[in-house]
Amino acid sequence: MPTSVTPAIASPAGSRAWSLLVLASPLLAVLPLVAYAVVFFLGLQAERGADLRTDLNRTAAGLSTMVEMEVAADLGALETLAASPRLELGVLLGFRDEAARLLAQRPAWYTLALVEADRQVINLRHSRDAPLPPASDLLVRGVLQTGRASVGVLQDGQVALRVPVRIGGTVRYALVAVLPSLALGHALDRLGVPQGWSALLLDEEGRVLARAGSGALPEAAFRPAPPAGQVAALEGGRLGLVRPVAGTRWVVAVAAPEGSFLVTARNWLLVALGLSALVGAVSVAVRILGRHRRQELDRQRRATQAAEEREKQERRRADLLATVSHELRTPLTGLLGYTDLLSRAELPPNARGWVEQQQRAGQALLALIGDVLDFARLEEGAVELEDADLDLPALLEDCAGILRGLAQQKGLALVVEADPGLPRWIRGDPLRLRQVVTNLVGNAIKFTRSGQVTVAARLTPRPELVEISVSDTGAGIPAEMLPHIFDRFRQAGADTARRFGGSGLGLAICRRLVTAMGGAIGAESTPGKGSRFAFRIPFRPGAAPVARRTGKLRILVAEDVPASRLLLSAVLERAGHVVTATEDGARALAALHNASFDMVLMDLNMPGMDGYGVAAAIRMLPGEQSRVPLVALTADAPEEIEPRCREAGFDAVLRKPFETRRLLGLIDALRTRPEGQRHVPARVTAG
Ligand code: ADP
Repeated sequence: MPTSVTPAIASPAGSRAWSLLVLASPLLAVLPLVAYAVVFFLGLQAERGADLRTDLNRTAAGLSTMVEMEVAADLGALETLAASPRLELGVLLGFRDEAARLLAQRPAWYTLALVEADRQVINLRHSRDAPLPPASDLLVRGVLQTGRASVGVLQDGQVALRVPVRIGGTVRYALVAVLPSLALGHALDRLGVPQGWSALLLDEEGRVLARAGSGALPEAAFRPAPPAGQVAALEGGRLGLVRPVAGTRWVVAVAAPEGSFLVTARNWLLVALGLSALVGAVSVAVRILGRHRRQELDRQRRATQAAEEREKQERRRADLLATVSHELRTPLTGLLGYTDLLSRAELPPNARGWVEQQQRAGQALLALIGDVLDFARLEEGAVELEDADLDLPALLEDCAGILRGLAQQKGLALVVEADPGLPRWIRGDPLRLRQVVTNLVGNAIKFTRSGQVTVAARLTPRPELVEISVSDTGAGIPAEMLPHIFDRFRQAGADTARRFGGSGLGLAICRRLVTAMGGAIGAESTPGKGSRFAFRIPFRPGAAPVARRTGKLRILVAEDVPASRLLLSAVLERAGHVVTATEDGARALAALHNASFDMVLMDLNMPGMDGYGVAAAIRMLPGEQSRVPLVALTADAPEEIEPRCREAGFDAVLRKPFETRRLLGLIDALRTRPEGQRHVPARVTAG
């Protein structure tokens, strides 16, 4: 039992993970940098944060002390006035003067009042413009009841300070000073705050009594106020701290920006991270693109190598084919040619039968060689189709004509039905079209015992296609074979080759030819009843060629092989032409100097000057002779030598061995060409 060895290669998943890792390596490389930057930034932030907290605490403490002192100073002044002996003695007039003096010393105060329960005993203002104190601030019951000084809340931007006045040990009046809350801001300004900081003095309800500092801090920044003494993060990247003002229910709130250094460092860090990510992404992209490019280059290199290798192999095969073709066809030329001549001579009846057998065997061998070589060339894509005007009904009739004898031998009717709507002249390759039709008709006759073979042609509307079908009343093809019938070397039955001969290449060649013509071929069949093969090719309208010229021609033959020379002369003379035969190129040129010819048939491989050289020399001749139609004779595949022949000036290439019919057909085709076209290199036919 054979053992199998599994090569030790990485699993696809593993290798994919590895290649992803390789691709992402630039990103991985920036990771340590990123980690370092984050740690550095966090450390910096912690250090700077601690400093900032200390500063905030110190500033808030300083400010609240300033406000406290300010309030204490005002209350102290009020208390001193409240202790005036004049009040004790009930000398209100003298007290009024005393109070007026105090008000004058305190320009920031609006009013100073002595209030007894609901009655203002004395009410002093700086000026008539000074606003009157709000009534509620004069409600001093609290002071009168408790006997303790108080600092009032903000109302209409004003603050009231109240102290009790005792007469004879009991609280009788309250002294009330009203001042604008802004006056307290001076206390903040006096101490000041660092650049960019801001400070607020807030009452117990969070209303702003005064503000200081340059940083624009919105009213709502400390709402809700953070717990006193705790540093809190505020909106807009600030840190804030609240501190109560002793002796009041107010607080001082201080806010500081996080620090430009930190912000800058953070911004730079973000920029650096962004750049690193960008660099990483770009380098990953570059690596991916690079890998794709390398893979693409690799693929292209491999494809080029494969194409070169294929081309080399094809050249070798073509060389081999050319050699085989040449080697087989040259002796066959003689064999078939002489058999042909022999069949036309007087023969005893027995011998005629043998000659006919020999002719059939030779034709079959030629057909087989032709098929094999043809198929090989089609496989290589080496076949170039001719584009000529062709008479389609005549072509079909011609194909049927060639095979009618065979059909009659089997007692079969062979009918051609050209649809009345079928145009007569179309463009196409007459030889290849003939090859396909002949093949199909040949098969139909071969596989039909009785009945009829019908060749039909019509033009389909939209799209306009030429449809040619060959139907028979023969054995049919088993359904399971039908899909494979166009494959090479396929025959419907195992005994087909033995019973009917053939190679199984005919239909494969047909399909390739029809495909090359831009069409498609198919088959349908009912076993026991018959088959129908049909193909469609694009319709291109053609035109009738100029009228045929008849009569004998003066033909110069150049052929070094005596047997071939003799055969060619015999065939041409039998067709009524006048032949001058020469054995090499130099003699042919000399003959052209001495006489004029209507056509030159020349072997390509001749000793001395070869056919190409002679053709080129003829085209250089002065006068009419340079325009004589030139036909190259060769056992090589015409497709392979045609470009060189055209270059040398040949009008047509005829492949050996050729049937007499073909040779004469070619001569006719050449002489019916319009004058102007004579030198247009074109393949008229290939044997
Ligand atoms: P060949 O005729 O040389 O064997 P072809 O490629 O022309 O090769 O045909 C392949 C096979 O298809 C034939 O051997 C035959 O079995 C089958 N076939 C082709 N044409 C017909 C037909 N008209 N009727 C029945 N069978 C056919």
